[in-house]
Amino acid sequence: MPIDATLPYDDANIFARILRGEIPCQKVFEDDFALAFHDIAPQAPIHILVIPKGRYVSWDDFSATASEAEIAGFVRAVGQVARDNGLVAPGYRLLANIGAHGHQEVPHLHVHLFGGRPLGAMLS
Ligand code: C5P
Repeated sequence: MPIDATLPYDDANIFARILRGEIPCQKVFEDDFALAFHDIAPQAPIHILVIPKGRYVSWDDFSATASEAEIAGFVRAVGQVARDNGLVAPGYRLLANIGAHGHQEVPHLHVHLFGGRPLGAMLS
């Protein structure tokens, strides 16, 4: 069910629980600013999610309220994950679903990295 990305942050959301270690994930990267793990229902041979560690629902509140260090850390983490997983040379898709029209289901900001095969035209 897509979420309303303007709602306040919900500490019970599944990625908050993953960040607290209450639910396992297949971790591929972690630092002070970000956590990355394999998507539980991969839609490509490589499908990784990168999430900031802060309590942000969407790109909107992240870009408006996160510190420079958090923003830089998150952006750098995404690039690091792409490099570490061999995505740069063949190419990959970076996507964030935001809010109802974006079909965001988990109310904690995340970006998807898809790769491992030619992905064709933009997803609808
Ligand atoms: O639509 P949205 O961008 O919010 O997608 C959430 C993603 O989180 C889905 O691709 C889903 O498979 C993934 N997920 C996950 N691990 C969970 C719950 C959801 O990888 N425990």
